[in-house]
Amino acid sequence: TPRCRFAPSPTGYLHVGSAQSSLFNWLFARGTGGEFLLRIEDTDAERNRPELTDNILDMLRWLGIDWDGEIVHQSDNAAQHAAAVDKLEAEGKVYWCDCTREEIDARNKERKDGRTGYDGHCRDRGLEKAPGRALRFRVPEGKTSWPDKVRGEVTFDNANVDDFVVARSTGAPLFVLANTVDDASMGITHVIRGEDHVNNTAKYLLLWQALGFGEVPTFAHLPLLVNEQRKKLSKRRDPVSVADFKARGFLPEAMRNYLALLGWGPKDDVEIRPIEEIVELFRIEDVSPSPAFFDEKKLLHINGEYIRALSTEDFVARAAEFLPEGEAPLARLTELAPLVQERVKTLDEVPGMLSFLWVDEPELDEAAWAKAIKDERAQKVLELVQGSLADADWTAEAIEATVRDAGAEAGFLGQEGQVQVGKAQAPVRIAVTGQRVGLPLWESIVVLGRERTLERLAAARE
Ligand code: GLU
Repeated sequence: TPRCRFAPSPTGYLHVGSAQSSLFNWLFARGTGGEFLLRIEDTDAERNRPELTDNILDMLRWLGIDWDGEIVHQSDNAAQHAAAVDKLEAEGKVYWCDCTREEIDARNKERKDGRTGYDGHCRDRGLEKAPGRALRFRVPEGKTSWPDKVRGEVTFDNANVDDFVVARSTGAPLFVLANTVDDASMGITHVIRGEDHVNNTAKYLLLWQALGFGEVPTFAHLPLLVNEQRKKLSKRRDPVSVADFKARGFLPEAMRNYLALLGWGPKDDVEIRPIEEIVELFRIEDVSPSPAFFDEKKLLHINGEYIRALSTEDFVARAAEFLPEGEAPLARLTELAPLVQERVKTLDEVPGMLSFLWVDEPELDEAAWAKAIKDERAQKVLELVQGSLADADWTAEAIEATVRDAGAEAGFLGQEGQVQVGKAQAPVRIAVTGQRVGLPLWESIVVLGRERTLERLAAARE
């Protein structure tokens, strides 16, 4: 059975690119009856922040990406890494190097071939192990290639692969060594990971062969994620942390659905669909090698669709987490849920849409108010509405009729003499909710209640 894995390094919060890698591994495993393992690559003691492992696990759970078996911690495999290094050393496949970064750079300036990596300076110097030295892999002549499931045949001329470091004199293994040894010991058959690892794969295969690990895994390098400017997504420029999307009120199932569309899509172009169907349709071979645009607008659209598809009850339960504490916010949300549900794309928009119902004084859009109130007809509408609402029936229909009549009387009339309800309602809306746009006004006023509505109209007219 196929065995694949997600192998994050806990050096940052789970990034959307890593989430895509984990999802594609998961889709592959679930669709082929294989296994999906999780390995935390925590050997880089300097860059690791253990608390980030919790974030990674939480976000995978949130996305519903479940793994098989126990989590493997790379740091538990130190003995195997050391044994692999010893074997390479015993077989003369590595050598010690004492070059400093500065020395390598200085020599590279003199090089005619324009290359910038390591020049093999210590290959035949026969240095011994000593503090500060690094153990380098003696890259053999020839070519290294593999049939990539996404990119087709990828070939490296070994002449272009520098003798890379596999371990330090402290014994600490480097990424590519630990990564390769762990995949072998975990019996990984499929390595599905980001395009940024293509160069590592050449080294991986050289090591795999040198260590005599047998049949090599199948590789699939997933497309890079880019922003609107076609630049690689970056932590500094772009929102990339899955936790931030969660905090903004994206639904995990919408996020997961969207991530599945980055570099892949179903043949029938029906993009929004249950994960079970995606599992069934997904083929790693169909993933495109071209960079995938992480399109937040599309993600918002998909999230809005998922929000609207929730039952009202489920919507209230999920949106409730975004409300301030207290009884009133939840009660108001419950009363207006269907209207809110139709209008938000993320759950964090919910409190702003409803807060005028529970705060003492709604936050006023000053510019919109100044503009609306300049019109004398608007002042007239407010006056008339304040008068009529004092004893109107407290229903949406009655309130609408009140504002319509006030609009007609104040002179908000179109060319055919029809009442311009939108114009008539604008000053009322701002007076009552503070904002120019929002939920349907009549229903909002019903929920706000007569007393508070009249107070706000009066305050607005002062
Ligand atoms: N720890 C590596 C990373 O996060 C693992 C890459 C791999 O999947 O092999 O990029």
